[in-house]
Amino acid sequence: MTIPSPEGATPVMAQWFSLKEQYPDALLFFRMGDFFELFFKDAEVAAYALDIALTARGNHGGSPIPMCGVPIGTASNYLSRLIKKGFKVAIAEQTETPSDRPKGQKGPLSRAIVRLITPGTLTEDELLHAEQANYVASIIPQQKSKTPKFGVAWIDISTGVFETSFVDGSKLNDLLGRINPSEILCSKEIPLNDYETLRTVLREHHTLNTAAKELAELFNVNSFEALGHFNDEEIIAGYELIHYIQKTQAGKIPQLARPQSQRYESILAIDPATRNSLDILQNSNGNQKFTLFSSVSHTVTAAGARMLANWLSAPLTQIELIQKRQEGWIYLHQNAALLAELRKILKGAPDIARALSRLSLGRGQPRDLASIRNGLEIGRKIASILNSYKEETGRVCSLIQNISEYFLYGEELLQDLRAALEENPPLKLEEGFIIKTGYNDELDTYRRLRDNSRQVIVNLQEDYKSKFNISTLKIKHHTQLGHIIEVSATSGTKLRDYPDLILRQGTANLSRFTTIELNELSEKILEANILAAEKEKQLFCELIDKALQENTLPILAKSITMIDVLQSCAVLYSKHNWCIPTLSDDTTFKLTHCRHPIVEAAMQHKATFTPNSCDLSQNKKIMLLTGPNMAGKSTFLRQVALSVILAQAGLPVAASEAKIGIVDHLFSRVGASDDLAHGRSTFMVEMTEAASILNQAGPKSLVVIDEIGRGTSTLDGMAIAWAMLETLHNTIQCRTIFATHFHELVESTRHLQSCKPFTMKVQEWDNSIIFQYEVIPGAAEHSWGIHVAQLAGVPLPTLQRAQYLLENLEKQYHNPQITLPLPPPATEEKKNVNSLPKEYKEIEKLLKTIDPDELTPKKSLNILYELKKLIDK
Ligand code: ADP
Repeated sequence: MTIPSPEGATPVMAQWFSLKEQYPDALLFFRMGDFFELFFKDAEVAAYALDIALTARGNHGGSPIPMCGVPIGTASNYLSRLIKKGFKVAIAEQTETPSDRPKGQKGPLSRAIVRLITPGTLTEDELLHAEQANYVASIIPQQKSKTPKFGVAWIDISTGVFETSFVDGSKLNDLLGRINPSEILCSKEIPLNDYETLRTVLREHHTLNTAAKELAELFNVNSFEALGHFNDEEIIAGYELIHYIQKTQAGKIPQLARPQSQRYESILAIDPATRNSLDILQNSNGNQKFTLFSSVSHTVTAAGARMLANWLSAPLTQIELIQKRQEGWIYLHQNAALLAELRKILKGAPDIARALSRLSLGRGQPRDLASIRNGLEIGRKIASILNSYKEETGRVCSLIQNISEYFLYGEELLQDLRAALEENPPLKLEEGFIIKTGYNDELDTYRRLRDNSRQVIVNLQEDYKSKFNISTLKIKHHTQLGHIIEVSATSGTKLRDYPDLILRQGTANLSRFTTIELNELSEKILEANILAAEKEKQLFCELIDKALQENTLPILAKSITMIDVLQSCAVLYSKHNWCIPTLSDDTTFKLTHCRHPIVEAAMQHKATFTPNSCDLSQNKKIMLLTGPNMAGKSTFLRQVALSVILAQAGLPVAASEAKIGIVDHLFSRVGASDDLAHGRSTFMVEMTEAASILNQAGPKSLVVIDEIGRGTSTLDGMAIAWAMLETLHNTIQCRTIFATHFHELVESTRHLQSCKPFTMKVQEWDNSIIFQYEVIPGAAEHSWGIHVAQLAGVPLPTLQRAQYLLENLEKQYHNPQITLPLPPPATEEKKNVNSLPKEYKEIEKLLKTIDPDELTPKKSLNILYELKKLIDK
């Protein structure tokens, strides 16, 4: 943003200029009385973004200064709107009040930036989505490597999660898709593609030595190695984040978990295009409705929802870890009464992690402390229920056993909070009544003094009423005057004759008096009030310190959250008749009676979902699926991909049986559309995605792909689809479902041994079609395009003309003269002779032995018989 020259500025504006200079990229919220004011370009931008009035204040450089403002009381609404639009906001607060100043001192009150609010560094509930993590990420390129490699770190300051990874350049976008950060710190050179708008370029950079030293200090270890193994760039990226957070939080750092480095291979790779096509956490409109998350979540806490979202977003590849999660919810499912009790307890569970983060940043309020206390209480309730079930059944699963001791952490803190904190403390510290009576003698004394004096005032009012014989006389508290006697103006004239009454104020309607006695009392009350508030604040801060010193709270919070996610899975399993998937290290793939969780959930009560099975095991790795549009192909493709995500996330699967050999990379290309924003046509998008599959998929991948070659001419498209299918079959050899409307491909790819044709069952009736949504072996006989057009309401004459044209085109197209060659031998680079059909090699061998010029008709006929035998085998 361009800032005008500060020359000639008034003292207040000079202050604005010097603060703005510190944060030129942020909108400066400049505190003036009860408003945050914005000036110059900031005002123009904010007025437009917030749709508020743009006014002017004074002059600078001969022109009026554009200005707009928001009231302090409702500032968080405006902030939230600006942050959602991607702006950063620097908050400049008054750091002194007029009463702090020595008498006679002139000039504006001093102001300082108390916080920089950016999309990735939020802590307030009003600014955050309760069920979603909010990450700020940092990316550091590895300088010495030939191919691009990056250290990436990400932190959610609202919960203290701190993780890192080291990835190849080609995997950077997969990782960003998984983290889904709100802000990314990195230099301009790093390609961010779809995340470009989230980039924040830092001016300062740090060396490895500084980063490792500072991080070791922050986590209180001798050397950074003590925190685990990290790549150099991960360390620097981690420290850049800490440094940035510190800057945004006016020097403070929230409580953070120790950094965890995630190896790329330990998580199922899902690229952004796959995520987009599967609606895992967000649908194409950017909300949570009709997503995998919404159809499987039965969590009852916001933290539980965040953890479940994380499981779905980053499914695992290690069987033991997946099975641990499974065991956890199976145990709860087997103990239905335990499950019901846990759900009941969890419904009242607070968001401990977010409360803790606000407390550690000095932004905590009484309710945050209450959240900690309630969380500790809930931990104990969970421990006691788990324990009684363990005693009853003599059994508990390993995951729950491993975390069971954490539920009892923080006993001393709980005792303190129980004794000190009111059951339902107010929202703000200033409202008082946070600390219970009986917790602190000094506080009780001040409160008694205050309350007793109040009673004395009540008595005094009665005395004065009878003494002056005015029944409407009242003693009131006035902000500026303190306690005063208030009577009507007429009564006031009468009272002026009493020498011990001092007139403080007289208006047309009212007269206000005081007495020495009342003045003394008023001062006593004021003093006791101030002392009580100060004492209460001090006790409140002490309790916060105690809570922050209790370093077991994050692990307690995580354990409660884990129970919520496990119970959610158990409910899902019990309620919806899903199955426990079996996972293996080979390439088995068998789903029986599988359903699409999102479509099925959306269909409830309207129709029933037709389940389908899918077997991509050893010699049938590729399913070639044909069928008309609207027959259910893409639904089937997606449900298979979603089953892998569910299974590897450790959840139940929407099928009667699921056997899945661990998938390392999931590719789903269903429903590609154009990407005009990046100048790419539908066909270009299709081909870019096809290229990314062919370049990255391996033998343990799962590819589900729909309608390749749709965006170009028929023959072009079919040739590309055909060649791609051959590559997947012969070279990559991964489990694949290849859906196409080119039903001719079935005949052309009969030589691909592991490729089996399937089709969507449709019934032709009365010259129309009825979709059965059933996947059956075989091939579609036609494309049924004209029938689908009819269903869509295309006018009859157009349909009749299309039918006529189709019949003629088919006659020409099915020319028996056209034959297409078998695939060329594999190239040296990707040779895979074993994948060619066996007959092919034998035919080749036989043909090599003959010389056609030497053959007699009889010999030729014999060879022909031989060849026929070979292919009939
Ligand atoms: P295609 O990809 O073949 O064009 P879709 O998968 O988009 O077809 O399915 C079209 C519609 O059919 C879906 O929106 C859904 O309402 C319905 N559908 C798909 N599969 C099933 C099924 N197995 N059972 C019931 N309805 C289904």
